Amino acid sequence: MVNWSPNVVEPSDGARIEADENGHLQVPDHPIICYIEGDGIGYDITTASLRIWDAAVKIAYGGSRKIAWLETYAGEKAAAHYDGDYMPDETFEVLKHFRVGIKGPLTTPVGTGFRSLNVTLRQVLDLFACIRPIRWYQNVPSPLKRPQDVNVVIFRENTEDIYAGIEFASGTADNRKLARFLREDLAANHFFEDAGLGIKPISPFGSKRLIRAAIEYAIQRERKSVTLVHKGNIQKYTEGAFQKWGYELAADEYPDQTITWEAMSANGSHPNPAGKILIQDVIADIMFQKMLLRPREHDVIATTNLNGDYLSDALAAQVGGVGIAPGANIGDGIALFEATHGTAPKYTNLDKVNPGSLLFSGVMMLEHIGWFEAASLITQAYEATLLDRIVTYDFARQMDQATEVSTSAFASSIIDRMS
Ligand code: NAP
Repeated sequence: MVNWSPNVVEPSDGARIEADENGHLQVPDHPIICYIEGDGIGYDITTASLRIWDAAVKIAYGGSRKIAWLETYAGEKAAAHYDGDYMPDETFEVLKHFRVGIKGPLTTPVGTGFRSLNVTLRQVLDLFACIRPIRWYQNVPSPLKRPQDVNVVIFRENTEDIYAGIEFASGTADNRKLARFLREDLAANHFFEDAGLGIKPISPFGSKRLIRAAIEYAIQRERKSVTLVHKGNIQKYTEGAFQKWGYELAADEYPDQTITWEAMSANGSHPNPAGKILIQDVIADIMFQKMLLRPREHDVIATTNLNGDYLSDALAAQVGGVGIAPGANIGDGIALFEATHGTAPKYTNLDKVNPGSLLFSGVMMLEHIGWFEAASLITQAYEATLLDRIVTYDFARQMDQATEVSTSAFASSIIDRMS
């Protein structure tokens, strides 16, 4: 038993999720799972989602399994509990200790020097893979003619790239020092005087652990391909290296489970031999077009941080938008699932918004701990609710003859449709 502060009320009816030496989770029937409510609309979507997750687990396992929830604090609620501290160290310790958590959105004030709590959580906990499954659910409004063709899982590298925060503002002494070094020592002259400068680190370690996670996922979930998305035609030693390391990793570590186009052509084995995962790559800009015109050609996507940031929101928009796009941030032996939208402050406590993003992040979480039956109950009940055209405001404004309901009523409608 760890000595927590009084803010951590460990449920007495639950047990910690353990991991074996290979990092595989050992999940008890009453696992302790952390939740962070989040700011703004966080209360509404968390309250609704907790009801749905609990109902699904109860129905799926007849009461033999139950999540023992542990409320954990970040953002405004943390400040209230931890004397003004928005991101208490204890929260990191709790999340590390219990291994699995789920969080609502957190406020990041713009232009105040206040560091993004989300980015801090990812960096401190070394949650190196951001995973965003993007698929269409029946009846969800979409701008595409065939949204059902979109079914991809994006693995976005979470710790490197321009997000490493190595930037030097125009006019500062450090900026001038770096500019001088670039011009004088490296003969790198192709930038204007006083340009702001940023560094884009992409390492073999960071790239390979992300691509490895994507390939492992593809193997476990029996997906067909892993597409490496990069801008290597322009940024050869960062984005191009990411692509190169991806192919190397597949060949070195997964020679029996993966195959490339090149290898298939060489041995005349078209189409893809059964059971082998195709490793392919696409330049980032054309990937946006491909995902609009021929989305079925892609399955699991592994990409660098900035590409992944753009791609995840753009693809989410193809199948319903960020209101229902789920996400997870995964590290070694730790996983934090999260709503991908922000705090939508104008809707705070109005019981109005769509809980879908957090709800489906919870579905990912249930799958992560191996509770697939509960996860699919939620998906089925959600689709049944939409089929009856019961929706929150965001979908109601895009659908004909929809019945607009509150967040809490939407949750009740989903629970009513579980059996
Ligand atoms: P936002 O909170 O995501 O809201 C933008 C718009 O998206 C909303 O006005 C709403 O559109 C729609 N939306 C968001 N969540 C929705 C939901 N659950 N259901 C239906 N519609 C939803 O983005 P923002 O206004 O740029 O950011 C607000 C704050 O959130 C900022 O402090 C930002 O830093 C933070 N943020 C946090 C996270 C995170 O914690 N992971 C992520 C992004 C932003 P309509 O106005 O059209 O109804």
